[in-house]
Amino acid sequence: MSAIAVNLQAVLSRIAAAATACGRQPEEIALIAVAKTFPAEDLIEILRAGHRRVGESYLQEASSKQMRVAQLAPDLKAEWHFIGPIQSNKTRRIAEDFDWVHSVDREKIAQRLSAQRPAHLPPLQVCIEVNLSGEVAKSGVTPDQLPGLAAVVAHLPRLALRGLMTIPDPAQPRSVQRATFARLRQLALDLRSQGLDCPHLSMGMSDDLEDAIAEGATLVRVGSAIFGNRPQKRGLPATLAPST
Ligand SMILES: *Cc1c(COP(=O)(O)O)cnc(C)c1O
Repeated sequence: MSAIAVNLQAVLSRIAAAATACGRQPEEIALIAVAKTFPAEDLIEILRAGHRRVGESYLQEASSKQMRVAQLAPDLKAEWHFIGPIQSNKTRRIAEDFDWVHSVDREKIAQRLSAQRPAHLPPLQVCIEVNLSGEVAKSGVTPDQLPGLAAVVAHLPRLALRGLMTIPDPAQPRSVQRATFARLRQLALDLRSQGLDCPHLSMGMSDDLEDAIAEGATLVRVGSAIFGNRPQKRGLPATLAPST
């Protein structure tokens, strides 16, 4: 097995162990392999290992990788998740080329994605990103803005509201980050009690997936634990060293 396939199995084992530890079924949690900064060849290894859900954060990089995967491995079908910040001039590509978007955080983006979703495809699966750490530079709605945006997304014809997404502030202590996951779960419960269908919690990454699963994560987005450490700056060659 390749290093990537070995790492993938190790992450799936971590997910299963974390689920069991809190009395959940491992099948309740889906892994999204986040391939940003890594080449299409690495992504293909994941697909060849039988894993379908992959995530990307930068649209241009994602588009060229999608073309490359289609060329090199036309038989392998990925489920593409867009998880990065969304600029309004990039919505068409996202609406056409992705199955899921985790980072919707304003009405204008939601409306454009719905209008641009091609008719032959099923509705775009949407999670709303919530900013619970108060970091100003980060995308995501505030908890106050969430019910309004959720109602908009739920009613747009070509979007399907599926859940909420958050990224805790990595500078905060672990206990605070875990409390952030708990708050996201509560916000999803609040939406459900208002009759919205909002089953998914997209939370947890390489370093904190156990905490996220203990707080109810159903979609974990894992990059470095599978593909290796990313260089600090985008565009530099990435190493395949497994993360510690
Ligand atoms: C990069 C990224 C991840 C994966 O992070 P790792 O720490 O490498 O697992 C998850 N979610 C988002 C939104 C990301 O941009």
